[in-house]
Amino acid sequence: QLNQLVEEVCLVLSQKAEQKSIHLESRHDGEVVLQADMNRIKQVILNLVANAINYSPEGSQVEIAVEKRPDGSYLIVKDNGIGIAPKEVGRIFERFYRVDKARSRNSGGTGLGLAIVKHIVDLHHATIQVDSVEGEGTTFTIKFPSA
Ligand code: ATP
Ligand code: MG
Repeated sequence: QLNQLVEEVCLVLSQKAEQKSIHLESRHDGEVVLQADMNRIKQVILNLVANAINYSPEGSQVEIAVEKRPDGSYLIVKDNGIGIAPKEVGRIFERFYRVDKARSRNSGGTGLGLAIVKHIVDLHHATIQVDSVEGEGTTFTIKFPSA
């Protein structure tokens, strides 16, 4: 149950969000049941939402949406944070890759989160897409094929 996993992640990360006065908002557009490894999908959501919080300014908003559509099920994590430059966006799923801004922020990440996300997404025959505008925000969209 993807909807439930999203709520669990929101709960787990609520304190981290509160520390930056970030509003975590979840939206459920249909009920999505996946044939999947629950713990791994939870790890995917955790990584994406933690990133959204880490790379967003105080007081901003992070939206996590679950959408059931005819062509598949979608998990969307959208932030209004620092964004990713076009020349970097192709590399963020590489192991240990962090954009300079993230490194200089000294936020202590390893650069493994998105590599793990990509690996798990591939294992589930899903796809992940990233849309980002520097200084405006980033949206990650995972599409799970309908069974
Ligand atoms: P960790 O392994 O602890 O997650 P990390 O967050 O640096 O470390 P990834 O999650 O793999 O590593 O992300 C890779 C890089 O992509 C980040 O360092 C950051 O530069 C960029 N990035 C990821 N998510 C976002 C986002 N939502 N907004 C802006 N930049 C992002
Ligand atoms: Mg990360």
